Amino acid sequence: MLTRSFLVRRVAHRSLPVAAVAAGLLASGRVLPAQTRPAQHLPSFEQMYGFKPGTDRKLPSWKQVTDYFTALAKASPRVQLRTLGKTVLGRPFLVAFISDSANLAHLERYRTIQRKLMDPRLRTPRDSREQLIEQGKNVILVTCSIHSTEVGGWSTGLVLADRLARGNDAETRMILQNTIILLVPSQNPDGVDIVGDWYRSTLDTPAEGTSPPELYHHYTGHDNNRDWYAFTQPETRYVVDSLYTPWDPQIVNDIHQQGGNAGRIFIPPYMDPVEPNIDPILTSSTNALGMQMSWSMIQQGFTGVANNASYDMWSPARQYSLVHRGARLLTETASARLATPVNVEFDRLGTGRGYDAREATWNHPAVWAGGKWGYEEIVKYQTAASWALFVHAARDRRAWLESYAALGDRALGDMPPWGRDPWPSAFLIPKTQANPASLQRLIWTLQHGQVEVRESTAPATVGGRTFAAGSYVVLVKQPFGGYAKSLLERQKYPNLFEYPGGPPKRPYDVTAHTLPLLFGVDVATVMGAPPPTGAVLPEVSWPAFTVAGLSGTGVKRIGIYQSYNAPMDEGWTRYVFDTYRIPFTTLHDKDVRAGNLIAKYDAIILPDQNANQIARGLGGPYPDSLKGGLGAPGAAALAAFVEAGGTLLAFNDASEYAIENLELPVRNVLQGVRNTDFYAPGSLVGVQVDRAHPVASLFNAPVPAVWFEDSPAFDVVDPNKVTVVARYAEGSAQLLSGWLLGAQRLSGKAALVDVTKGKGHVVLFGFRPQYRGQSEATYPLIWGAILRGAGAVRP
Ligand SMILES: [Zn+2]
Repeated sequence: MLTRSFLVRRVAHRSLPVAAVAAGLLASGRVLPAQTRPAQHLPSFEQMYGFKPGTDRKLPSWKQVTDYFTALAKASPRVQLRTLGKTVLGRPFLVAFISDSANLAHLERYRTIQRKLMDPRLRTPRDSREQLIEQGKNVILVTCSIHSTEVGGWSTGLVLADRLARGNDAETRMILQNTIILLVPSQNPDGVDIVGDWYRSTLDTPAEGTSPPELYHHYTGHDNNRDWYAFTQPETRYVVDSLYTPWDPQIVNDIHQQGGNAGRIFIPPYMDPVEPNIDPILTSSTNALGMQMSWSMIQQGFTGVANNASYDMWSPARQYSLVHRGARLLTETASARLATPVNVEFDRLGTGRGYDAREATWNHPAVWAGGKWGYEEIVKYQTAASWALFVHAARDRRAWLESYAALGDRALGDMPPWGRDPWPSAFLIPKTQANPASLQRLIWTLQHGQVEVRESTAPATVGGRTFAAGSYVVLVKQPFGGYAKSLLERQKYPNLFEYPGGPPKRPYDVTAHTLPLLFGVDVATVMGAPPPTGAVLPEVSWPAFTVAGLSGTGVKRIGIYQSYNAPMDEGWTRYVFDTYRIPFTTLHDKDVRAGNLIAKYDAIILPDQNANQIARGLGGPYPDSLKGGLGAPGAAALAAFVEAGGTLLAFNDASEYAIENLELPVRNVLQGVRNTDFYAPGSLVGVQVDRAHPVASLFNAPVPAVWFEDSPAFDVVDPNKVTVVARYAEGSAQLLSGWLLGAQRLSGKAALVDVTKGKGHVVLFGFRPQYRGQSEATYPLIWGAILRGAGAVRP
């Protein structure tokens, strides 16, 4: 992990006396014109590799990206390159700092200005709010292609860096003088090669342009941009520890791609709902900058620009910057088939959420006529949108810094001036908890997102309970108090429908992010006066997670099924097992189909995946060696494994595969139910757990809650063969956080069942027990199912 002061070591104070900086001579860059070497000395990607970034059917490799940025940083005084660490699979993770060379020479000073603008407690008469605004720069974080099949960003970063390093026109110089750009060429370097190698290997075959048959991030796949408050992956931590936390950028330009049959690019404003703890200053500045970008693009002749569409402002798992002082300008450009062009006929264009791609409306004013759409067009759109962002942010430097200072003043002032409900003053967290490792993870998680955690200095009584002095306290009045509140409170997702009486309006992602329920930690909410507290505590360490009888032993032989139609839940399952140091073997289709599984395994896990995908696997243009799924031989092999004494664990949708293919006497009561009758797209739901059952012998969450995400729920058909381990609660104990429509359909239904079959068992989880590496509260149900009492010792 990087220290927060890593920048200090690398900054060279060479061209300007410190006194001049302190006297405010850096204002607006007037004193220091851009220093440039002749542009012909700069390397060009095309000279180095023989093709321009953004050429159809040409994807750069990560080594090419790395070598190009290294050469550029060596030649240009406007570019500093840093390696923040190694990815999960060992590739270098890069960031380029791009600005006027005079700004780059004093980066640490500008970081200090950011810090003092962000936190009014750090300001001094010498560094007053007004002086800091006068001197500071607009800091912009650019994150390219966290999603590796959204290949445009790999080349857009190259084009932007070249243009910023080379340009000597007035516009480029204004950008460089007024802004400091932190450009991350890819947030997932492993995926650049996983997708790129697959793409190059399939060129001129039927599979050209398809997704690779594996996750493009080793553990998370596409979920890698849903990791922003849990920080489970090193790539997330590099960006948070080295960029978000030291800099708290005013603006984040997050470059993505969407499907290919609607608008050509989405730019904020986002759709509703807005997470209630986001400061409205950031909502409106995001809206304003998004409209400025759209205005610039349309003026330049770009069409198909859509606003207020598809993407919402709910989950801090994606919208991290919006709860950390940064406007987030997500752009989503239309995709082709990776770098292979497609021809999109106008009549094939459809509706995006919030607009019709064939009609001119206020939020989609210039209709795209259809035609060729390739890598070239994707990179052009992404570059134009990013450049428009740079221009407007640089022009409005002062407004952005004033806004930024106001955010800091508000967070430390009296209760935020928005919303009707009174805010709590603090959250109290007792140090004695059923699961000490989960408590430690909760404190680490909060602190890692810049939340200040303290201890109480006197006993405090909340809701009739007394909390001892020395309990953890999170005050809401602190720089990131709103962020802490969003993670510690229960979400009330609004009831949104497509139209009155119509189906529910699908959230862009999930609807709950309540860490006390996910982690299984007891946390109390303090309304009224906060308890007296001491100083801010230093950051705790990431806990060493273990399960007695499983961690490090290899005593239980565990297989985890991995489909070539790679589901993210399989990656998260491996992540959790690796984190707990529990050995396992990955099973592919042929391994399962080969049979005699009982000779090699005690337990086999089917991670969350659609039943048809498990049964049929990949098809279409993929090579024969990857096709077919488990098929009939795989299903027979799993049935024989259980009959012979094995344990099969099926997570969430995979339960339906097990019910059908192993002919289990269990029924999914939600099968075929329409979303107008029942809907829960990622919520925390209360359950009653039979803690005497061997599967639940390690379960110890203070408020039993499971992660329900378009999940099944069970009725038992044959009680002689099926026991219920957990049942959904009723009434107010049912929906604990998020959104759930049609609650009565879930009341009293089974959430977790243990089915006896032959000498073995099938354990059906009607929820995601290891949701995105976060639901520590329900991991013990996995351990219990594998250990089945034998060796299951409470830690
Ligand atoms: Zn994306």
